[in-house]
Parts: sequence; structure tokens; C-alpha cells
Amino acid sequence: MNTNPQEVVLKMLVNILGEPKRKSEKRQQYAFNCPACDLGRNKANLEINIGDAIYHCWSCEPESDFHKGSLYKFFKNHGSKDDLKIYKIFFGHSTHKELEVEHKVELPEGFISFEDIVPFYPPHNQANKYIRSRGVTDDIIKKYKIGLTTKGKFANRIIFPSYDKNGELNFFVARTWASLKPKYLNCDSPKTDVLFNEHLIDWEKDIYIVEGPFDSLFVENSVVVLGSELHHSVLEKIYNNCKANVIIGLDPDAKKKAEKIYHELNAGRLWGKIKMLSLPEGEDIASLKGNVSNYFKIIK
Ligand SMILES: [Zn+2]
Repeated sequence: MNTNPQEVVLKMLVNILGEPKRKSEKRQQYAFNCPACDLGRNKANLEINIGDAIYHCWSCEPESDFHKGSLYKFFKNHGSKDDLKIYKIFFGHSTHKELEVEHKVELPEGFISFEDIVPFYPPHNQANKYIRSRGVTDDIIKKYKIGLTTKGKFANRIIFPSYDKNGELNFFVARTWASLKPKYLNCDSPKTDVLFNEHLIDWEKDIYIVEGPFDSLFVENSVVVLGSELHHSVLEKIYNNCKANVIIGLDPDAKKKAEKIYHELNAGRLWGKIKMLSLPEGEDIASLKGNVSNYFKIIK
């Protein structure tokens, strides 16, 4: 008998919802068609994280009963009596976190803003030289609240914090200035559904979709792709809120990713408003300091 709790839960979910349409086994995250709102559209808006024992439908109305909750709630409402019994054996009812209780993100150990560095302290000096060489100014430091740390897991990395629309920290990306591998480390929060620095987004203006945090410093109103693609909920937020154009400015080697975003956004109210940049080989928005007006691609 299979007694890996995660696998058992996945099997029960598949019995109720059918096979997942997308999955990330590493993160134990699966996307299914939502039983409450999909109605045969095959949108796979229901995301379930088995590790965290939570589900969330990106398309159900937030007021609706189904919308989101613990897997306990899910099996209680949608599973059989046996499903719920088995679920309780493995997970109890108290282990599940509600999505409402978001992980609180904190700046990494030893974080210090570039506004407060000690210029003659060698690591600070190195980090400062590095960001200046990439064109970062005092104004940029202030606006994006960039800092660094020399301690802990994120030591010797520049920290790019992300704040939500209420100004709460919800993510950070750490980029080495000392050729450590990997070049980028994300904070420990598993969230990739973060709209990076949403507090800086003005939905009335053109939005840029950019590859990394450095790029976002050089074009106003930019959305950073965290991970390999833009999370569905971020795409949805852009689709629902953007009142001007969306300009996709990913690196030249990310053509497939850019095209995918293009096709996902170029519909309905945003039809014809999605533009693409075709940047020269080896360049990105940061290296061009945001001077990208010559690189708009003609889309046939
Ligand atoms: Zn739904």
C-alpha cells in the first residue's frame, strides 16, 4: 500500500478533479480545472499546494464559498467521507494553513540599505562599486529600497525587496555581487504569484514586463518575471487592471517565454495593446539603461 501522504492526497484529488493540467512536483503544486467555475473552459485556475495543504482558485469570485481555503475544507466539501477520513489520518485538521494567513516575509539577516552603508568597509565598498557600475543612482536606491547583506544565507548579495500595494514586504530577490552561484536567489517564501513592487505600478501608464530586478530599475512601471514564467495570477492582474499598453522586454534568449506572455495577454480588453521589444543579442534593459525605444518589434 502506498503510504506517502502527499501521493495519497494527490490520488484523492485526481479522483475528484481529474488529472492536473500543470504540475510542479518539486513545489508539490498542481493546477486543476476548478469544479466551481471552470464550466468546460479548461482554464486550470484551481491551484493546489499539497505541501502547504491549501487550494486557491484564481478565477472564482473572492466572495464565493469555494474561492480558497485549506485542503481539509476542500475534502470536507468535495470529497467522500472516506477521503476526509484518510486526509485526517495523514494531516489532522490542525496542520493546514489557510491562505489568508500569508507567510510573513522579512528582510534577510543583516540587511542594510545602500543609503546606510559604511563606504570604507570592504564588502560594502565592493557592493557599492558593483551597483554603480551597473548604473544605479541614489534616486534608484531610494525608490526601490535596495540594500545588501554580508550575513547568513544571502551573504554578499544585493537585496531587491518587493512591496505590495499596501507597502508590505512580500518578496525579495538576492543577486550576488561577488560571482557566487547561483547568480540570483529568491527569498524562502514559495510565492511566485507576487506582482513585484506592486506599490510602484501605475495602471494608467504603459507597463513593462522585464526579466529581472535590475531591468526593473531602468524602466518605469515594470513587472518582474519571478521564476521561469509569469504566474497566472500576475497575468490576470495585468489583464484586469492595465489601462494602457503592455511592453514585453525580456532578454533576447527568452523568445519563447516572451511569446507565451504575448499570447496570454493579447486578448479581449488588451487586444492590440501588447508590444514586444527585440533587444540586440547580449543586451538587456538594464545594460541599455532603459533606452529601448528603438527596439520595438513589428508584430505581423
Ligand atoms: Zn473557481
